[in-house]
Amino acid sequence: MIRSILIANRGEIALRIMRACEALGIETIVVYSQADREASYVQRAARSICIGPAAASKSYLDQAAILFAAEVTKADAIHPGYGFLSENAEFAERVNDAGRILIGPTAENMRIMGDKISAKRAMIAAGVPCVPGPDSALPDDPAAVRAIARDIGYPIILKAAGGGGGRGMRVVVMEDELLPSLAITREEGRKAFGNDSIYAEKFLSHPRHIEIQVIADYHGRALWLGSRDCSLQRRHQKILEEAPAPGIDPQLIASIGERCADACRYLNYRGVGTFEFLYEDGAFYFIEMNTRLQVEHPVTEMTTGIDLVQWQIRVAQGDPLPFKQADIRCEGHSFECRINAEDPKTFMPSPGLITQWDMPNGPHIRVDTHAFAGYRVPPYYDSLIGKLVVHGTTRDEALARLREALAETNITGIATNIDLHRALVNDSAFTKGGVDIHHLEKNHQNILGSAA
Ligand code: ADP
Repeated sequence: MIRSILIANRGEIALRIMRACEALGIETIVVYSQADREASYVQRAARSICIGPAAASKSYLDQAAILFAAEVTKADAIHPGYGFLSENAEFAERVNDAGRILIGPTAENMRIMGDKISAKRAMIAAGVPCVPGPDSALPDDPAAVRAIARDIGYPIILKAAGGGGGRGMRVVVMEDELLPSLAITREEGRKAFGNDSIYAEKFLSHPRHIEIQVIADYHGRALWLGSRDCSLQRRHQKILEEAPAPGIDPQLIASIGERCADACRYLNYRGVGTFEFLYEDGAFYFIEMNTRLQVEHPVTEMTTGIDLVQWQIRVAQGDPLPFKQADIRCEGHSFECRINAEDPKTFMPSPGLITQWDMPNGPHIRVDTHAFAGYRVPPYYDSLIGKLVVHGTTRDEALARLREALAETNITGIATNIDLHRALVNDSAFTKGGVDIHHLEKNHQNILGSAA
């Protein structure tokens, strides 16, 4: 039984995890950097420990400091949230070696999925469809590299095996660019991820980003919990997500969901996770698996009625999942707007003091945030300051509710992307459903302009 959890994260997700712990009667311990000292969730935790200065490398990424904080507080478990150490296999091992539970999958799960080449190999073995291209690193020999690229057919995308966060990827349109692009991507992979293995796959021209949420317990049960569409992105970062993915035959989604659940059983996967796919012309192609809780998990909670964080914790302490696949419902429709402290036109971060913070309210509206009027958004971390989530019986009803909720939202003092969300919910292509991953970047100025 887990009696206390140390939350090794910050911001909205630290508060989200704290709420799940409180509902389960579990004591929370929060670690924080000097820059987060004033955060309200730090005061709310039963205990809190400062683990270092503002820089994440010296606080939220400092494994020794976090392990030490867990030791002195005798925390039974550590919840890593998302980002920071959440997909770090070495950290998971060190937590286990210290006799604690890491709330997440096994270190081995993380290791396989953390390397995009081994992940692709595992998915092919498990029968999950992948983007065309070899499941091995590109060789050094230039002639062999050219032959592989020609075989896939241009355009191709070069990807660093250790890449993440939208970095370490490069599209190659013709052969002349191949070797120079490979050299740059290799260097990036080596510097940013300590891994210079690069692989190549077909670059899909107009895919949607569709993902499948899964959960698996320690008793052999693995379930998929519906789909999410996260195609609205800027610089490969998601901005507005929804569940379920609109306009795709539910039978097709169910068949891919089953493959994902099968893959979890094949991999002995534990806990929550997300299979990310590109979807183009009626077919799904696996791109990567995230071995952690996702930012956009609330849209799945709204449509399934399952509290993913509570179940993540319960599974980690060995509880069997009480529901079967046939019990999993996808009811109605849900949207999530990521509220970022950033300029809606340039996407430049906009940290600083929030002077006014009016959030919408009412039935079927959920706001996950640690921010408030008087809160100072620190400049050191991700610009996400909150998530506005709505639910409706139909997609149209949810959209209408989202428009209303965005109209009620008023944040002053810092720039936010609320105006972009207001424009997006009136964009005809988006309201119709099914835009591709390039839609926002291609039409950004038009979408914003038409709202002005
Ligand atoms: P990361 O780990 O950095 O998030 P992903 O592999 O998940 O990288 O890819 C991030 C984004 O890059 C995808 O959502 C999509 O927009 C784009 N992308 C990745 N692979 C391809 C591909 N084969 N064809 C077209 N776009 C791709």
